[in-house]
Parts: sequence; structure tokens; C-alpha cells
Amino acid sequence: MIDQIEKENCFGCGACSQACPKGIISMNPDFEGFLYPEIANNEDVCIQCGKCLKVCTAANKPLLYESAKGIHYNSLCKLSSRQKSASGGAFLGLATYVIKELKGVVFGAAFDQDQIVRHISVNNIKDLVKLQNSKYVQSEIGNTYKEVEQVLKRRSNVLFSGTPCQISGLKLYLRKDYCNLITVDIVCHGVPSSKLLDYHIKNIVNNKENIKNISFRRKHSFFPSVSSFLFSIKKKRGIQLARNYHQDQYFHLFLLGLSFRYACYSCPFAQINRIGDFTIGDCDSRREYPGFHLNESTSIILINNKKAQDIWNGGANKYFEYIPLDIEREQQCNKQLSIPSSKPVDRDSILKKVFSMSKLDYLRYVPQQSIMDYFKLRISLIIPPIFKHVILIFKRK
Ligand SMILES: Cc1cc2nc3c(=O)[nH]c(=O)nc-3n(C[C@H](O)[C@H](O)[C@H](O)COP(=O)(O)OP(=O)(O)OC[C@H]3O[C@@H](n4cnc5c(N)ncnc54)[C@H](O)[C@@H]3O)c2cc1C
Repeated sequence: MIDQIEKENCFGCGACSQACPKGIISMNPDFEGFLYPEIANNEDVCIQCGKCLKVCTAANKPLLYESAKGIHYNSLCKLSSRQKSASGGAFLGLATYVIKELKGVVFGAAFDQDQIVRHISVNNIKDLVKLQNSKYVQSEIGNTYKEVEQVLKRRSNVLFSGTPCQISGLKLYLRKDYCNLITVDIVCHGVPSSKLLDYHIKNIVNNKENIKNISFRRKHSFFPSVSSFLFSIKKKRGIQLARNYHQDQYFHLFLLGLSFRYACYSCPFAQINRIGDFTIGDCDSRREYPGFHLNESTSIILINNKKAQDIWNGGANKYFEYIPLDIEREQQCNKQLSIPSSKPVDRDSILKKVFSMSKLDYLRYVPQQSIMDYFKLRISLIIPPIFKHVILIFKRK
């Protein structure tokens, strides 16, 4: 049963736990905080039905679409709310189409009130902002595969977005193709655990309850701009703490690949053939398209099969400006379209050391940024709001 799966191969999607007819598989954190399945009590309760293995991505070879032969775009969502997206708002455009025009339900990752990232569902445009922007942590799936199945059986349209392993878990859980299900996988280079993010937050703020929101990527509020990797915490009283990726311990571990789940280092989805109907990601080759919104972050959209092509041509495309993407060039820039992240030899020992550090040692862990970088960051945070206010004053006049 599911306990036959090696820890190194488990993606933690929780499909086994949701599929177990006896409800005896729970997802529990290990020392690093990654969730793994555990069968309750003893083997007597398990009826050996094998459903847990049938839905397990580690036990079944994933069926991928030949995206290499598909259609690929460099895109920018036309909606102004793309400012809240990580790159060009690929997710926002597709999700808006599904909610507005197909009256569907959208599933994706959002922070809850305790700052834990979980998959939730949204059925109105106003709430889409909760799913926008990348949260660089493993999102907890909970019971959302079951919820998706219920919505699909009511014949409503569903868009489910997530990491490729989460899409794989959903497809194996459902065990059949639904014409009203649209899957969107995101290009992913690996996920840290909720425990690491929680530890990081508690080390840099005194009281988690004062947090209004957290973000990993940010665009300036005034200039149309390229998004930067900035770990920001906005407090309820309006105070903002922002740390760029040189300075932030969490980003440092993330960008060096030191904090990923074991299975990420041998991810079978880090390649050009894809599991979702659509694939979205950062357009890392965007500088090669000087005539296409060079001052903004844009997204790649890979249309991986006929269903995605029909949705795109049937109306989703009207939410975007887009041009053909040279996929081979993009693959050269965006490594996760070809190979998984490699596992640093000292990954285990560094992560263990980090978790046992005192607060002071943790805060000293990453080399401080240069004075120049410090001022550049502060200025970039102050100038745009000032401009915004000046413009408002002029408008009122
Ligand atoms: C852990 C992680 C690693 C990534 N690595 C890469 C990479 O190496 N190369 C690359 O090109 N792009 C990567 N991305 C994707 C990238 O950050 C953008 O999501 C992508 O460019 C789509 O653009 P957007 O503007 O629509 O993004 P967004 O506004 O970020 O789109 C949000 C979408 O991402 C989903 N999402 C956000 N956080 C999570 C999460 N923790 N788990 C599951 N789904 C989530 C939301 O549900 C929503 O569907 C990664 C994203 C994540 C979450």
C-alpha cells in the first residue's frame, strides 16, 4: 500500500489520503515540515484495496501531452489587475474567462488567515486576487480533489491550477477525463515546506497576527514594470517590511535549491511535455521580443492539447495580447522546461542547521546587502506611492 512508496519519490499531493475509502491515511509533516502519508493504527484497518497506489503519482507513469508540438505564446493579460500577478497575468486571464464566460469555479493557491498556503476555490472575480501571485512554498491540497469532483459532477466548469505534481494527483484521483475540467500547470523549480516559511516569518516579525499580507514577487504600483523577487510583509497598521533576494534567508535557500522537497530533485514534470491542458510560467526569453512590452514581465502560455486550443480560440485569447514564442529559445533560458533542479550535496545538513539556529544566528545567516542595494530598495518602495499621490492631487484639481 502507500507505505511502499519511498519518501524520495512522494510529492505530498495527498491524492492517496483523499482516495482511501476507509479514511485512514493522513498527511503528516516530517522534521523539515513536508507532508507525507501515514496509515493510521495498524494494517488490520487497511482493507488492501490498493486505491492509494492507483492515485499515486510516484507509482504511475505520468501521461504527458506532447507540448513540444503544441502552440506557444509570449503573453500579457490585458486586465489592469495583472499588476498583482507574478509575471504577465497568464493565470488571471484564463481564470477570468472561466468565471465570467463559463460561469465556472477556479481552484488555486492562497494564503489563509494563519499565513499557510492552501488550495481553495473561487467563483467570483473579486476573490481571484487571493490566487494571484506566486507563493514559493508547497501549497496544501487538503480535500480539494474531492471538491473538484463534486463540482464537475454538478456539470459546472472547473479550472484547477497548481504545480504539475498537483495536477497529476488530481487527474489520477479523478480517474477519468471530464470535458468541463481545465487544468493549468505552472512551470516549477521546486517547493519548500510550510514549516520553513512559518519559521522564517516568526524569525523576522514579532507577532504573526499583525500580518495583513505576504508576497514573494512585486511590481511597482505606479510604473508598468518588471516584477522583482522581493519578500514583503505588509502589517495591519500599514508598515511594510521588504527584503530583496540577496538579503532574505528564505529566498536565499529557495533560489539555491537548498530547501526543496526531495521529489523535486527528480521531478518527472520538469520537461517540455506537460501534464496540464495549459502551462504557464515566466517568459525568461522576453528580452528577445523587443517590440512586445519590454518594460513589463510577460508570461509564457503553452497550449498543450486540442481542449486548450478550443478554449483559447473560443474566447480566452481576448483577455491577452500575445505573440508566438520560440519554445526552443525559452527552454534554454527557463531550465525547468528541460530538467529538474539539482540537489546540492549539503542540502540536508544546511536545512538541519537552519532549523536549529537561534533567532539571532538566523537573522545573521545570509550576508547583508550592500549599502547601495539597501538604498535602491528603499527608494523603489517610496517613489511610486509618492507619484501616485501627486497624480491624484492633479486629477482632483
Ligand atoms: C513554487 C513555484 C515555483 C515556480 N518556479 C518557476 C520557474 O522556475 N520558472 C517559471 O517560469 N515559473 C515559475 N513559477 C511560476 C511563476 O512564478 C508564475 O506563476 C508564472 O509566471 C505565471 O504567471 P502569472 O502572472 O499568471 O502568475 P501568478 O499571478 O503567480 O499566478 C498565480 C497562479 O499560480 C498558482 N500558485 C501560486 N502559488 C502556488 C503554489 N505555492 N502552489 C501551487 N500553485 C501556486 C496560483 O494558484 C495561480 O494559479 C513558479 C511558481 C511557483 C508557485
